[in-house]
Amino acid sequence: MGLEDIRARIATAEAQSGRPAGSVELIAVSKIQPEARIRAVLDEGHKIFGENRVQEAAGKWPDFRADYPDIRLHLLGPLQTNKARQAMELFDTIHSLDRIKLANTLARLADERGRSPDLFIQVNTGEEPQKAGVLPSEADAFVQSCRDLNLPLKGLMCIPPVDEEPSLHFALLAKIAARNGLAGLSMGMSGDFERAIAQGATHVRVGSAIFGARVYD
Ligand SMILES: *Cc1c(COP(=O)(O)O)cnc(C)c1O
Repeated sequence: MGLEDIRARIATAEAQSGRPAGSVELIAVSKIQPEARIRAVLDEGHKIFGENRVQEAAGKWPDFRADYPDIRLHLLGPLQTNKARQAMELFDTIHSLDRIKLANTLARLADERGRSPDLFIQVNTGEEPQKAGVLPSEADAFVQSCRDLNLPLKGLMCIPPVDEEPSLHFALLAKIAARNGLAGLSMGMSGDFERAIAQGATHVRVGSAIFGARVYD
């Protein structure tokens, strides 16, 4: 466990899949974690972090950013349109683009601001009713809609169902991305990031394996 260990395991997985060293970006998922644990990872020189909620991120990252230069912040959780402006100011990348209303809002704000975070479309590969994301059957049309809006699409993101073999979901996401000419694949968490890398992940989102278990109160 810990940052060094995860970096080493990513390097091994890259090599085993015949992929160049450094081709997988590690997003350290810091949601819920206490400030001291986050500072420890910042002190190790890591600069790429992920958060689930706009409000929570807004409460801590401006201070961290004042102390540590060049931090890149990724939004991983669902985004309400009324938080879109704040999210665009705070985050460099948003992984949870999942509906046309949000795409329209992001496009309008991007026009207004003259720039936009990089975007990943979330795909609900397991077609779970409680989970965000476009359905696999709707993904191609939604990619096209986002392109028509000139949004800076980087790739696709998924969170596989907890009780299924994630590799099948990673492979499905990779297939949808490939046929849409999208290079980015945001997939793989603490329990399955090596399997995600084997299926072509470009961004892995690892929380508890770096920081320790999240303690909810
Ligand atoms: C919390 C979370 C992660 C990290 O989960 P771990 O199992 O702690 O690695 C990754 N992606 C998303 C979308 C999350 O919400």
